Amino acid sequence: MSKAHFGLIGLGVMGENLVLNAERNGFSSVVYNRTFSKTESFLKGRGAGKSIIGARSFKEFVDSLERPRRILMMIKAGSATDAVIDEISPYLEEGDLLIDGGNSEFRDTERRVSQLESRNFGYIGMGVSGGSKGALEGPSMMPGGTKSSYEAIESLVSKMAAQVEDGPCVTYIGPGGSGHFVKTVHNGIEYGIEQILSESYDLMKRVSGMKGEQMANVMAQWNRTEELTSYLVEITEVCLREKDTNDGEDLVEKIMDKAGQKGTGLWTVSSALELGISVPTIYASLNARVMSSLKDQRVKAESIIKNIPVISFNLGTVDNGMEPLMDAVVLATICSYAQGMDLLKAASEEFKYNLSMPSIAKIWKGGCIIRSSLLSRIQEAYNNNPDLLNLLLDPWFADQVNRKLTNLSKVVSGAAQSGIPVPCLSSSLDYINSYRTSRLPQNLVQAMRDCFGSHTYERLDMKGPYHTDWLK
Ligand code: NAP
Repeated sequence: MSKAHFGLIGLGVMGENLVLNAERNGFSSVVYNRTFSKTESFLKGRGAGKSIIGARSFKEFVDSLERPRRILMMIKAGSATDAVIDEISPYLEEGDLLIDGGNSEFRDTERRVSQLESRNFGYIGMGVSGGSKGALEGPSMMPGGTKSSYEAIESLVSKMAAQVEDGPCVTYIGPGGSGHFVKTVHNGIEYGIEQILSESYDLMKRVSGMKGEQMANVMAQWNRTEELTSYLVEITEVCLREKDTNDGEDLVEKIMDKAGQKGTGLWTVSSALELGISVPTIYASLNARVMSSLKDQRVKAESIIKNIPVISFNLGTVDNGMEPLMDAVVLATICSYAQGMDLLKAASEEFKYNLSMPSIAKIWKGGCIIRSSLLSRIQEAYNNNPDLLNLLLDPWFADQVNRKLTNLSKVVSGAAQSGIPVPCLSSSLDYINSYRTSRLPQNLVQAMRDCFGSHTYERLDMKGPYHTDWLK
């Protein structure tokens, strides 16, 4: 029997769909799963009648693959990935390629790349985004490792990836853990946009008294605009329209208001703090999840801390697409992307990843969760100016800010006066206002530091450093 072109380890929701994707694209496959019963039921179910076989052991799995072997691991990140690498490594030979497609921490990937470099097989850390549907129909893929290893899998991943007008949503990202770093930041931006859309839902519900169907209609309108056409707006419409089959009420109102936050969102923020990059919109979305998890405390606090009555303020009407609110959502979304792109640029310099910003924007245009029409503008911005300091300085994005800032300010101020938390919208407003203010009050911070700790300060008008005896 001829050997399979492609091997997949891990028949979770992503693995199942990715192997069906590979097989549909002409790559006969062999699958391995720790629990063999899952392999059996997959082969009898969705894998039946396809060029896919199953293996009970790593030896059988590796022996069933043509050389050089191309093996994708889609398993739980962390120690599970280390365990599988340890078990399969002895069977791999010169030229073989082991790809980690899970959500691994980029530092784990850096460690694995340096540990495995002495072996004769290649190792690629590849971020994959698109959920189960994307995995089946074409995800966005972010592979990092040595360039020659990528070249050996390029024909496979180019066919499997989502396709946009300027090519497949996959490219060589850079060395070491760069692929997983880019996926991490992708998820950080995703956290931000999910929270921004959730805040807009809360405002429409609490200030304008709108129901799911009306809010879904607004999302449908937003999804037809250049600024907000995106997968996340599309699925927000779907979620808001869904009814509970028990009573026909909006299903979203029955869902517990708690969201988890460990993993990629947390890693985005901790990397940003370490690299000194300002990501307040993304941080606010992470913190909003932390606050959401304190359900019992929030219920108690609501009965103790004085309630502020919701005031009526202008969010717009369904007829005008809730224009002031939409402007606020557009600017906050731009901030989430701008902060993520800034973090990528800083990491590229610090870790010598040599990231191509336009290429990253390009591969996010299809297949992934943050795909949106704004990414074409982001791609264009970095193509026009590879040294762009911040997305907000690009002429198209600066024009968006100049035209929409008043509405963002009004929405945040109305929400504040009504006691409605809008952490991402307000952090975005502060981000923009801080970024466009040439004179910030950190002069006083410096004065205090010199006053209590003789830390010295610089002056605007003379070369320093200076120290003053403030308490004389
Ligand atoms: P998952 O639930 O994260 O992982 C399930 C798979 O991991 C199963 O095949 C399981 O085998 C295997 N596994 C767990 N511990 C293992 C161990 N110690 N040794 C060997 N195998 C082990 O599945 P998933 O959602 O498909 O995700 C797979 C990877 O892709 C994860 O890293 C995830 O973070 C990442 N990812 C997920 C999504 C998504 O939308 N779900 C999107 C992008 C990336 P058993 O059947 O034997 O338990």
